[in-house]
Amino acid sequence: MNEEKKIDICGLELNEFESLIEEMGEKAFRARQIYGWVFNAGVRDFAGMTDIPSQLRARLAVRFSAETCRVERKSVAGDKMAVKYALSLADGNVIEAVKIYDSEKLDKYTVCVSTQVGCPVNCAFCQTAKMGFIRNLSAAEITGQVLAAAFDAEGSAEGLSNVVYMGMGEPLLNYDNVVKSVKIINCPKAFNVSMRKITVSTAGVAPMIKKLMNENMPITLALSLHAPADALRDKLVPLNRKYNIKCLMDAVKTYARTTGRRVTIEYVLIDNVNDKKSDAVKLAELLKNTLCHVNLIPMNKTEGGFSAPLKSKISEFKNILVRSGINATVRSSRGQDINAACGMLYREMKRARADGENI
Ligand code: SF4
Repeated sequence: MNEEKKIDICGLELNEFESLIEEMGEKAFRARQIYGWVFNAGVRDFAGMTDIPSQLRARLAVRFSAETCRVERKSVAGDKMAVKYALSLADGNVIEAVKIYDSEKLDKYTVCVSTQVGCPVNCAFCQTAKMGFIRNLSAAEITGQVLAAAFDAEGSAEGLSNVVYMGMGEPLLNYDNVVKSVKIINCPKAFNVSMRKITVSTAGVAPMIKKLMNENMPITLALSLHAPADALRDKLVPLNRKYNIKCLMDAVKTYARTTGRRVTIEYVLIDNVNDKKSDAVKLAELLKNTLCHVNLIPMNKTEGGFSAPLKSKISEFKNILVRSGINATVRSSRGQDINAACGMLYREMKRARADGENI
């Protein structure tokens, strides 16, 4: 007998879930109750939803599920400030999510989520790129990562302050599921994370930046720029050959002007690749009169042979930007000891599986 595929509650906006519950002949408030159990209490087994009548719990279990991501493996940073998860999906694919604790308010944390299994963008310095592209994640598989990270090790969603779409994959190439997951994460009955505390990052899918601008979602947009000129960016982020810097900056400036929201410019500093004084000068020129903030991220050591510049070079790069009137800070790449560069835990798991480890 063909069992009908269950609907994962984690991928339903509340109004959609309410309609489905009403179709079952139940009152809409039941949907809000169940949503609360899943997102606020981390209960994913209907049997544990004690204020729902037992008959309804049984009917729910036939039609719905709430478990798209299962923690397969995790690694905790030496300073305990970051935890990286390898999460398995129903089809056996593995994705990564990271939980990063706030260094000032230790009870608060950010979850960094993946949006695709693998990635088609193929950035030169990225471990995920080496996997190639496998598939897009559903909205449930995106919100499910937040759920798995929040409730791991008896944790709760109470301290969840920010969600960043910066894990495996290019979010704007999985546009509909990303937008839907943002709405669910923001929903007061789900995780209730303010739109302003949600960041969607892109390697530069220019038309989708303009589409996102019209969603009326006051999230933060982050552009992974990494180079101030096309010749270098073509090599580092091959998507640049399709949407070059001029086209991208047009999209970013329009986004900032229309939404009134400051765009974050991510710039991974790689030793002897994009860290020259002349690169900083060009970057400052490019970003002049743009409502933006530059995050300089020293390269996380990976297997690709790239490395971070010396600290003095990083400060000099930043100072050139700041002296030119560009808002810039250096972000520490936390989690170096837990393989926190995207794609690294996945590769480690694949190696272990190939070696016959039971994971
Ligand atoms: S850096 Fe991001 S966009 Fe580029 S290949 Fe890696 S996952 Fe994809």
